[in-house]
Amino acid sequence: MRGLSSMSTGEWKANMTHLLEFRNVSKIFSRGIVHKDVTVAVDDVSFSIEAEDPGIISLAGESGSGKTTLGLMVLGFLKTTEGDVLYKGNNVAHLPKQEKKNFRREVQAVFQDPFAVYNPFYRVDHLMDVPMKKFNLAASKTEGQELIEKALNTVGLRPQEILGRFPHQLSGGQRQRLVVARALLLQPQLLVADEPVSMVDASLRATILKSLNSLNRDFGIPILYITHDLTTAYHISDYIIILYLGSVMEAGDVDSVIKNPQHPYTQLLVDSIPWPDLQRKWGEQELIVPENGGGAPKAGCKFAPRCPHVMSECRQHIPSFYQVSASRVAACHLYKDAAMMPKKDLGTLFTTKPPSQPSGN
Ligand code: SF4
Repeated sequence: MRGLSSMSTGEWKANMTHLLEFRNVSKIFSRGIVHKDVTVAVDDVSFSIEAEDPGIISLAGESGSGKTTLGLMVLGFLKTTEGDVLYKGNNVAHLPKQEKKNFRREVQAVFQDPFAVYNPFYRVDHLMDVPMKKFNLAASKTEGQELIEKALNTVGLRPQEILGRFPHQLSGGQRQRLVVARALLLQPQLLVADEPVSMVDASLRATILKSLNSLNRDFGIPILYITHDLTTAYHISDYIIILYLGSVMEAGDVDSVIKNPQHPYTQLLVDSIPWPDLQRKWGEQELIVPENGGGAPKAGCKFAPRCPHVMSECRQHIPSFYQVSASRVAACHLYKDAAMMPKKDLGTLFTTKPPSQPSGN
């Protein structure tokens, strides 16, 4: 396992500067003046990504889980309500001018809709040229051209087919790969990919995921992969954080979490994946639709209104993080006999390398 480290198994990497760190981050949106309509999109979330030997980390959950809000805060497009987002130890909300410019180059994004990213009046050449000039990436025009062609080739696009064309003349898959190539051109140190394959058909999905995978394996670029789709998360990532209504429900290495989910919410999500396994009964768990439409209850576990295992204490107390296996935690009272990780230490949750997993765990 690489990059995102997990669990309190002992050896903290004290005093380490993370590539990215979320420190007790909350984001609250409020609307209205007299009657405030308040939505807690992200609720006291902490995790970190290391610069060394980075992996692919999925932030997964249903819509409304807070995953996209988290991604926007990583990119500095949204400010936190509480807590800090740190990039290389610096708060992204208060970066000095030069650091901000570096941050804009080093942290790149791939969004869901590749068409919305481009100005339709500019040809692909211009779209690739703009960041090249803005960040002085090449010493000459020839070098610039070489870098552009190299980036296109890396994501499986043929420069002679792409350059000189307008975005609307490209297929959805070509456009999305072009976004990845443009990000690669800037030699990012972190890539935030928010539902990058949800608008392309199945045949292109594999190609784009392969491109992202290669950015991580071949170029060592850590990727924060934001998705509602556990299948792609399982295939592409090393680690996963399962979010529900802005809170972390379960987190750890992706193999353990998906193959043997421990949190009832993760179990429900995994149970709804149509795996090609004839022995497996699909959708065995009953999907409970809460009366309040799925909003967080006033007290206790946020998942209680939907949980098939709900107990009386679930409605009164917010569950802590329990170490349900060597490399992950679940926020659930069902595991109250396991070792607990205090919430204040959540920032250290991902600061140790997980030990190797016993098979089937
Ligand atoms: Fe279900 Fe209780 Fe666990 Fe919440 S704490 S997931 S309600 S068992």
